[in-house]
Amino acid sequence: MIIVLKAGSTDAEVEDVCGRIERMGYRAHTIRGELRTVIGAIGDDRGKDRLKSLESLECVEAVQPILQPFKLASREVRREATVISVDGVGIGGTEIVVMAGPCSVESREQVFEVAAKVKAAGARILRGGAFKPRTSPYSFQGLGESALKMMALARAETGLKVVTEVVSPSDVELVARYADILQLGTRNMQNYALLQEAGKSGKPVLLKRGMSSTVEEWLLAAEYVLSQGNRNVILCERGIRTFETATRFTLDLNAVPLARELSHLPIIVDPSQATGRWQLVRPMALAAVAAGAHGLIIEVHPTPNQALSDGAQSLDFESFDRLMQDLRRLLGALAKQLA
Ligand code: PEP
Ligand code: MN
Repeated sequence: MIIVLKAGSTDAEVEDVCGRIERMGYRAHTIRGELRTVIGAIGDDRGKDRLKSLESLECVEAVQPILQPFKLASREVRREATVISVDGVGIGGTEIVVMAGPCSVESREQVFEVAAKVKAAGARILRGGAFKPRTSPYSFQGLGESALKMMALARAETGLKVVTEVVSPSDVELVARYADILQLGTRNMQNYALLQEAGKSGKPVLLKRGMSSTVEEWLLAAEYVLSQGNRNVILCERGIRTFETATRFTLDLNAVPLARELSHLPIIVDPSQATGRWQLVRPMALAAVAAGAHGLIIEVHPTPNQALSDGAQSLDFESFDRLMQDLRRLLGALAKQLA
């Protein structure tokens, strides 16, 4: 249920309503919008009639059910778009944020070279895998903490923020020490222990859509993070499994405007994992932004044919520059700009 407060409610009133909600056995999540404050009462639906009694309070305008199964992620709870600040870089507004870097961190030289190049081209966030959730246990699994250190050094050198994947609940604390955004991968979208641990960390979370998950399941996964009191969830569409085998996955661009309709959370697109082919990355990146994505995450490698993972879908520096030039032109037509 959501408890909509009257405009101009005081902090003391908000606190009082939260206390009452909690005494009824619900968790209270206060969402302050520009126009109104609402309090989400999250818990077992069965006692919801008791919450209705809050309508008798002077400061309460209405007590309404949240119709969607996901609650805190829903537009019903928050009408305004959420803009997440990643150490000063806003994601979810009209400025488009580009995250770029190698699939896996392979060496200090590689990360530094990529970081400098993608920064010069206009990226704000450096991606790079330290812990890789590979489909085969015999594939390169990532360099672990030493890769996190390399990315942290690249951040110190360039000012880029860092996004990197965490694959296990017990690694959340370690990864959160180095990263600005915790990436939760497609293979882990329904790893609820991991979602909750990432929620508790309070760090911004980049939540990839499960390759076989519906949009509803994805938003319910976001709910696991949000319900821990972490509001900083960025959705990421990265392609889903279909009958098509000519590409690695099928980029579901429907999900972009749909997620924006259903949720206030920012959404970005990963055309690299979605297509599996570098030739398709630029056109699909542009299409994603035209469809309303707030940002992109792109794999870039100095020598894609020597990459330890995902070389076939990685752009070289020249192709990445071309993508960024085309993106700037597109943004001009959309009256948007790069962050
Ligand atoms: C990646 O970003 O390199 C990755 C493994 O992503 P996904 O979880 O979408 O496959
Ligand atoms: Mn990859």
